[in-house]
Amino acid sequence: MRVLVVSDVHANLPALDAVLAAAPPVDAIWHLGDVVGYGPDPDEVIERLRDVGAVGVRGNHDAAAVGGDEIEWFNPDARRAMEWTRERIGPATLAWLRALPTVLTIGDFTLVHGSPRDPLWEYVLSRDVAEANLAVLTTPYGLHGHTHMPIVWRVLHHRVQGREGEAGTSVELGGAPSLLNPGSVGQPRDGIPTSSFLILDTVAATATWQRVAYDVGTVQERMRAVALPKRLIDRLTFGI
Ligand code: ZN
Repeated sequence: MRVLVVSDVHANLPALDAVLAAAPPVDAIWHLGDVVGYGPDPDEVIERLRDVGAVGVRGNHDAAAVGGDEIEWFNPDARRAMEWTRERIGPATLAWLRALPTVLTIGDFTLVHGSPRDPLWEYVLSRDVAEANLAVLTTPYGLHGHTHMPIVWRVLHHRVQGREGEAGTSVELGGAPSLLNPGSVGQPRDGIPTSSFLILDTVAATATWQRVAYDVGTVQERMRAVALPKRLIDRLTFGI
């Protein structure tokens, strides 16, 4: 089985469409939350994900969009964008977001937004946090997003190590338990402005990161038109 894994689409339709066009033929599409927030196309992104049959989990922005008090923890720009999102989204989007689970287990894979032990909020950014989460993982592989950084955390030479998921690189599935982060589709933060995603191939037993460019200018124009915060618009240019 081949699976496209996307995360942190953040209401960026041109980015999602570029990923769907660039990905090889797949049997399933999994998303790791933060489908909305920051970007200008929340309804359109969810319509697209529904059309392609994507399944996945709830992120902190998705929880805030359906009225959760997660919004209290947002920085001022994220909060402004979330207030806009709440006003903008329609009933079909709300229903779709409300139905997302916080954890989803599919075969050997556990899907979460943040981390296995704190699915909505924890950022896996350090060896210690990765180690603690690998210890509570109940399947061989954990798929997570939230940091917007493509990376794999796994035990190598008896210690947990992180390795950046550079475009075109793969890791073998079948060895040590791993936490795999596909990076972000709609708001990359690793200094590369192109959309990042992951392809799982359960027959070849590989997970491969890929990147694709999308029309950043179009999204920025749409964000400007609805007066989303300037800092959120500018960062897309640099992938930060
Ligand atoms: Zn996010």
